[in-house]
Amino acid sequence: MSLQQVAENITELVEGLNFAEKVERSLALIDDAHREFGDRLVVANSLGKDSSVVWHLAKRVSDDIRGFIITTRFKPPQTKQFMAEEVARYPELRVFSNDEPIEEGLCATDPDRCCELLKVQPTRRAIQEMHVGCWVTGLRCTEGRTRTDFTEVQELDKGLIKLNPILIWYEREVWQYLALYGVPVNPLYKEGYRSLGCEPCTRIAQGIDERAGRWIGTSKCGGECGIHTKPLLDYQI
Ligand code: SF4
Repeated sequence: MSLQQVAENITELVEGLNFAEKVERSLALIDDAHREFGDRLVVANSLGKDSSVVWHLAKRVSDDIRGFIITTRFKPPQTKQFMAEEVARYPELRVFSNDEPIEEGLCATDPDRCCELLKVQPTRRAIQEMHVGCWVTGLRCTEGRTRTDFTEVQELDKGLIKLNPILIWYEREVWQYLALYGVPVNPLYKEGYRSLGCEPCTRIAQGIDERAGRWIGTSKCGGECGIHTKPLLDYQI
């Protein structure tokens, strides 16, 4: 399957493929992208469960695949500790952040601006500094209301492909994979979180929407930080 030939009927794939078929499809997508982009294929690792799956799949395709982590001053200590362990295990994971001073309380008064500064800008820097031609994410269309319209292969910025190789996986299948392959996960999941982010903007939430605990009480509730929705190449550092 070439990246250009990827089928677009996402709902059929979500409901029609079983777990093993989804794993095979995800591996094939990463393998195709690796053949096409080589060293310019880079995995974005958010240190959440979906990223842990994608990183493990990528390493099954090739040990050489590199990755980047975007961190912020507001990440919970458990996530920072997990990041240190992952980077020690995989030195090919580079860490990017924006440590410049920002207005106090910005995450409450203007979370879009806060995410732009602390998450989107370092993502742009990672893509530029690592010479990325195709970045790989753990985005899934079953995660919540903001993620239903994505496809497995996208080109939101001309010249930059985004590959979402586990787009069609259910939450259950993510945990199934992590358990079956013994993949280490962020310890915050033990506390009941289902979607992880910065400490001030993440709560434990119940219900169908996996991302319901993100940015509770703001206009961004259950939404996106911007790395999947904003231009990543049209900028100046
Ligand atoms: S998740 Fe919250 S604290 Fe983190 S960058 Fe976005 S608004 Fe700021």
